[in-house]
Amino acid sequence: MSVSLDDLPLRDDLRGKTPYGAPQAPLPVALNVNENSHPVPEDVADDILDGIAHALRDINRYPDREFSALREGFADYLGEGLQQEQIWAANGSNEVLQHILQAFAGPGRTAFGFGPTYSMYPLLTAGTGARYIAGTRGDDFTLSPSDAAAQVDAVQPDVIFLCSPNNPTGTPLSLETIEAVYDASHGIVIVDEAYFEFAPHEQASAVTLLQGRERLVVSRTMSKAFAFAGARVGYMAADPALIDALRLVRLPYHLSALTQAAATAALRHAPAMLGMVDEIVVQRDRISATLSALGYTPYESWSNFVLFGGVDDPAATWKALYDRGILIRDVGLPHTLRVTAGTEEESTAFLEALASL
Ligand code: PMP
Repeated sequence: MSVSLDDLPLRDDLRGKTPYGAPQAPLPVALNVNENSHPVPEDVADDILDGIAHALRDINRYPDREFSALREGFADYLGEGLQQEQIWAANGSNEVLQHILQAFAGPGRTAFGFGPTYSMYPLLTAGTGARYIAGTRGDDFTLSPSDAAAQVDAVQPDVIFLCSPNNPTGTPLSLETIEAVYDASHGIVIVDEAYFEFAPHEQASAVTLLQGRERLVVSRTMSKAFAFAGARVGYMAADPALIDALRLVRLPYHLSALTQAAATAALRHAPAMLGMVDEIVVQRDRISATLSALGYTPYESWSNFVLFGGVDDPAATWKALYDRGILIRDVGLPHTLRVTAGTEEESTAFLEALASL
């Protein structure tokens, strides 16, 4: 007889919850989890392999707990005069967010995000025993400084998530809104810039707001623009004191020597690794334009995906595309679906399949 979760002494606050579960189906065109469809360039892959081979020779020893070379690399990449004392990294930005919640949320505390937003925020919050509170967005999923500040002021959460640009909607977020939320709160304000590299080049990062704001965190990932999702590397910048708080909750040696070597080598090739960003943005804009021509209503996106409305029956459309070998995402918003901008061929395959339905 098989045992179910109900038979186990599971924490009460985890009962009835469902785990993160984007389908991982082996379809020819996978545009469902906002990955980068372009592989790492061959010469960069060779250099990463050299770095891993080198690290392997010392693999009998624990890795550098402070991952200094990697932090140096991220400080250089982010610029703005950042020092490695202001940098943290972990196994994906999901783990970065988890570290922040472990240190600043937890039992009796609250975390807050403006829904619809990244589905892991509530799950990561619940994992630390804190309560998640969902705020709201305006028309077209935008967020004005005054509205955002008023919602945060009313709740006074311990941790606030600002996804910039927002997943799953692609919506841009202004620096003014970030400043207003920071000023209205006393908690930790996380700006999740997982998709920042796909925003217009002239757009300033929230990294430019860090100076003098000791409760502000800017989180990034190598999973999207860097085409490094399988390596699991996320990072963040904040005040050195905030970074110290994360040392209280991380597991010892949480970043393996192989991860550190791979990411450090990849960062040395940042321009080549990011070489496909502009091409992805071209496909994103082509997808939006074609969706409009087909009678759908794409939302403005500064990321590598497009959320589009005007879908009568999202589950049926999702299944029809699935049957044609194309995997996109039903994020549960009424009459919408979300598609990642892939290579030109993948994007064409998606658009032609959709047009044929
Ligand atoms: N933040 C946002 C907004 C995301 O969409 C994702 C991944 N889909 C993440 C964080 C986490 O990505 P990773 O753990 O691969 O860095």
